[in-house]
Amino acid sequence: MSVNTSVVGFPRIGAQRELKQVIERYWKGQSSLNQVRETARALRKQHWLTQHSAGVDLIPSNDFSYYDQMLDTAMLLGAVPARYRNLGLSPEDTMFAMGRGYQGAQGDVTALPMKKWFTTNYHYLVPEIEESAHIELSSSKPFDEFSEAQALGILTKPVIIGPYTFLKLARGPQGEHLTYDMGLINAIAGVYAQVLQRFIDLGALWVQFDEPYLVMDKADGDIELFKSLYSRILPARTSANGSVRLLLQTYFGHVADCYETLKLYGFDGIGLDLVEGRDENLEALARYGAGQDATIFAGVVSGRNIWRNDYVRSLGLLDAVKEVADKVVVSTACSLLHVPFSIEGETGLGTAVCDHFAFAVEKLGELCDVAALVEQDQVERDTSPILAVNQALFDGTRVSANPSVQSRLSCLDERDFVRQPQRSDRQKIQGAELGLPLLPTTTIGSFPQTREIRAERARLRKAEISQSEYDQFIATSIDDVIERQEQVGLDVLVHGEFERNDMVEYFGQQLEGFLFTQQAWVQSYGTRCVKPPIIWGDVSRTQPMTVRWSAYAQGRTQHLVKGMLTGPVTILNWSWPREDISRQMQTQQLALAIRDEVLDLEAAGIKIIQIDEAALREKLPLRRSHWHKDYLDWAVAAFRLVHSGVKASTQIHTHMCYSEFNDIIEDIDAMDADVISFEASRSDLTVLDAIEKAHFATEAGPGVYDIHSPRIPSREEIETRIRAILSKMRPEQVWINPDCGLKTRANAETWPSLEHMVAAAQHIRQELV
Ligand code: GLN
Ligand code: ZN
Repeated sequence: MSVNTSVVGFPRIGAQRELKQVIERYWKGQSSLNQVRETARALRKQHWLTQHSAGVDLIPSNDFSYYDQMLDTAMLLGAVPARYRNLGLSPEDTMFAMGRGYQGAQGDVTALPMKKWFTTNYHYLVPEIEESAHIELSSSKPFDEFSEAQALGILTKPVIIGPYTFLKLARGPQGEHLTYDMGLINAIAGVYAQVLQRFIDLGALWVQFDEPYLVMDKADGDIELFKSLYSRILPARTSANGSVRLLLQTYFGHVADCYETLKLYGFDGIGLDLVEGRDENLEALARYGAGQDATIFAGVVSGRNIWRNDYVRSLGLLDAVKEVADKVVVSTACSLLHVPFSIEGETGLGTAVCDHFAFAVEKLGELCDVAALVEQDQVERDTSPILAVNQALFDGTRVSANPSVQSRLSCLDERDFVRQPQRSDRQKIQGAELGLPLLPTTTIGSFPQTREIRAERARLRKAEISQSEYDQFIATSIDDVIERQEQVGLDVLVHGEFERNDMVEYFGQQLEGFLFTQQAWVQSYGTRCVKPPIIWGDVSRTQPMTVRWSAYAQGRTQHLVKGMLTGPVTILNWSWPREDISRQMQTQQLALAIRDEVLDLEAAGIKIIQIDEAALREKLPLRRSHWHKDYLDWAVAAFRLVHSGVKASTQIHTHMCYSEFNDIIEDIDAMDADVISFEASRSDLTVLDAIEKAHFATEAGPGVYDIHSPRIPSREEIETRIRAILSKMRPEQVWINPDCGLKTRANAETWPSLEHMVAAAQHIRQELV
């Protein structure tokens, strides 16, 4: 006997990223829509069967998506803005137009804004609800996929982003928050009710509504909104044809502040994250109980790490839940979308290392192990070979400490975290030293990673070319990109990052303490995936990592060339961190390593150094009360540690891939960089108001065009954007740049876009002087 198991969601891109490949071929006109559909169908089948044969009871469906599950939900609800509908494209192409913009025979539209999904590195598209939107059930995707699984003999648990989370994350046409009037609430609730009714007809036993937004701090009216929605939806669980059970699935934190409401509403199942929201969720459960007929879906297997589950710890959690709840299902804590597919195929790491890892497929096995163990008494558990093998992984030390790293850390004092002189003095010194015009133009660092560059790297890896041939290729690429930047007229140049596969992996590979996988891909946005390195031991730098190519590039031009580094917080956030020491400690180790690199770049004559903190915001705790003590205090400090040793005349830049820092603007300023560039082209420009209001002292380049889309912005469009920026910021404070690195773009769109950007900046500059 074992208790039932449930998976919140499963990765969809494919073990070999098959979905990515076929969709990207389709965009290039090299695959048909039918081929896309066939690949998708095959992947769904394979993923269901994998879960089925692992023994999972409640297997998700509709967790599949061509592009993004939020976009699917918008399509389901008919929340498709007119400008996309008017293109007159197929449903798939309409969806792709919303996801990535469209420029072609049918028209010219930008993509919907994209935001990070809670604290993950997954990005969802922000649904836009127009005043005139006609909300109604508009897609059959969830039903089709349910039936598809049914035809394979698998009764799945359909999964849909819930109405509360959808409405809290959707925005109006200007990016504004919605007003939740009764018309909207009724319409949305009506569709969800219809969804339940359809699933009754189809014979589903459980339907899962994902409501991660419940783990956020509540604003006025939030609970009322939740209640208005669900008081209309819950009755639809029964009809003349039968009934269906509704699982309210929460994750990424705790729901202690609304648990009582959830219980009172009588959901059939409540899914609780017992990894990220452990203590508060357990307390709430103990205080209020589980509710009469409610099943508690106890999320004990993390969907956010790659480490083996500690079975004894999970059993402790489950035993605690069982004291309160009669009906318990063992669940993943969140969707497995955020972990790689399988450890199988990672032949390079060796079994002694791999034994410590569990990716999505392995986590299925863990779920089932734990579900079997939880039914056993102490005597059976004590003699369980499964438990013994698992516990051996956690006994003893997995990896020994690096004494020199430890001694450096113990010598740090407050002065190491403060750069001298203060920023206003530095700005004068740098103004004289660098001689830049008003509204200096620059890019974020990378230039297109063309197929040729990737092929060259692959050839090096396979030893088809020598290191010196590869280096020659990189040098030529740098020569070329420097020359083209000069031609376009950019003020601060970059070397293009051609030697880097990835902004984190490149550093990880040169640092001690990291491990790498071959195919542990995780979806980031659309069809894009990342392959985070693993922090295995103490981190240290043994030799310069970027000096060679930065110095080479600077030697090719009279213009200034920015050095490019990835910051410690981003390296941590885009790696799989250790769980045996704190994140703060790992970040300090990284900061010391990058600090050495900064000083080496400076010594090599690089006058501007950018330290990217693209992911700083990402791991900001969801609850405000945790922001500083659990994160910002040490994250900001680590950044300061990286650059506090440079001369006053060296200009330190940073870059962030988002602009949601209105509420942490003082912390961003406190990083004490001289210049920051950030994404602002897709989102609303309210960040500029925040900058104005906070007397933000860092010079700033709010991105003037969107690099996530292949469309080419016109000069006029960019000028309009710059004028909007100048209406809020002093010209002396403004930099002009795209909103992120250009590596995912093609040369064909990159250079015209930059020409337009430079022309726009030059035009406006003339008006200012
Ligand atoms: N310097 C990096 C690049 O241009 C920054 C990338 C990022 O912000 N994600 O590629
Ligand atoms: Zn970026």
